[in-house]
Amino acid sequence: MKKGIFIGIVIGALMTVSALAFLAFTSESTSSVETPDTREVFYPGTEEVGPNEIRVVALGTGMPNARPKQAAACWLVELGNGEKFLFDIGTGSAERLAAMKIPMDYVDKLFIGHLHSDHVGDFDALWIGGVIANRVKPLRVWGPSGNGDEFGTKHFIDNIKEAFHWDISGRYGNIDMRGAEIILTEFDYKAENEVIYNENGVVIRSFPAIHSLDGSVSFTLEWNGLKVAYSSDTYPNKWWMKYAVDSDLAIHECFASPKIMIDKQKFTVGAALGVTTQIHTSPGQFGKVMSEIKPRMAVGYHFFNDFDTAPLVYEEVRQTYDGPLSLAVDYMVYNVTKEDIKVRMSAIDEDIWPQPATQAKLPPDASLQVGFTDFIRGGRVNYNAIVKQYYDNINKEYGTKIPYPPGVE
Ligand SMILES: [Zn+2]
Ligand SMILES: [Zn+2]
Repeated sequence: MKKGIFIGIVIGALMTVSALAFLAFTSESTSSVETPDTREVFYPGTEEVGPNEIRVVALGTGMPNARPKQAAACWLVELGNGEKFLFDIGTGSAERLAAMKIPMDYVDKLFIGHLHSDHVGDFDALWIGGVIANRVKPLRVWGPSGNGDEFGTKHFIDNIKEAFHWDISGRYGNIDMRGAEIILTEFDYKAENEVIYNENGVVIRSFPAIHSLDGSVSFTLEWNGLKVAYSSDTYPNKWWMKYAVDSDLAIHECFASPKIMIDKQKFTVGAALGVTTQIHTSPGQFGKVMSEIKPRMAVGYHFFNDFDTAPLVYEEVRQTYDGPLSLAVDYMVYNVTKEDIKVRMSAIDEDIWPQPATQAKLPPDASLQVGFTDFIRGGRVNYNAIVKQYYDNINKEYGTKIPYPPGVE
């Protein structure tokens, strides 16, 4: 029961994950052939998800303003059948996703709980960054409608496409752009426990949340007799009580307590009380919510989880909830099976590179190039001898015959 908080406070605060990786590498008592069952640390890219397992990775657990230790809201759910799902894509979370070493072709399904920037702020990094990082299939997005067309996910997606018109236009004709397509499913935000995804035995349902405006929702994902519930942001509400019950992992926002907002974030007393208890769910309310639904493990996120804040949040939660609990930080990993829920931290390789595409890329169609005006093109200073040398050397090294670009003789 106390393992999560222990990991969150002690390991998260006193040791960096890279230090852990270093210790693991140098320690004589650590065998390189350890099975995942005995590993205390998760090394991305080295463990299969078990056939009956759901692996959940916290990729963003912080506040609206991302910081090095915590990105804004994002959760990766990986299933034993090979499928992967993202829930929210808050500011800063895309770099956490990259750290998981997953080829982007496998990360093509995003579920948006609401349209606050701390839940969609890295959408462009997932969408366009995904194209650059080798996703060669469309990005599928599910998100709620709103109380009026301009408040729905379709409005957000249509307009972010417009906002990035320059970016996208400059890439057509130069790279494989199949990954730039967005396939959006906008569903009714008022739908109560309605199925919005049902493929390969995976069922995802949506129900209303109460946060900021109409149009916030929460989700449950069910597969293989296991259930993960994700609140996105919400005030405690009756739908969560009804539909998140019986969750194996219940991930619900647990905002900073008012005192933290006043002392550390310099909110006024009035604003701190309002934000933490009326717009979000305070630690005490979070505990009460979890006491009602009794998950196998309660997961709280959405506060800056430090050595001096976690004890207060923990204490407030414990006044209303005494069940299994984890207060998440970024890179916390949950291996969920019917028998066990194991909580660990990841060891992250900061020198990570994008993973290769899993499918062959198509050659770019040069006819789609927008190109430059004569005015800009006329400003080029050509170092043709250097360019030719690059072409000659690289062609020789790789056994290719790429011709010189136009204008280079
Ligand atoms: Zn929000
Ligand atoms: Zn939020």
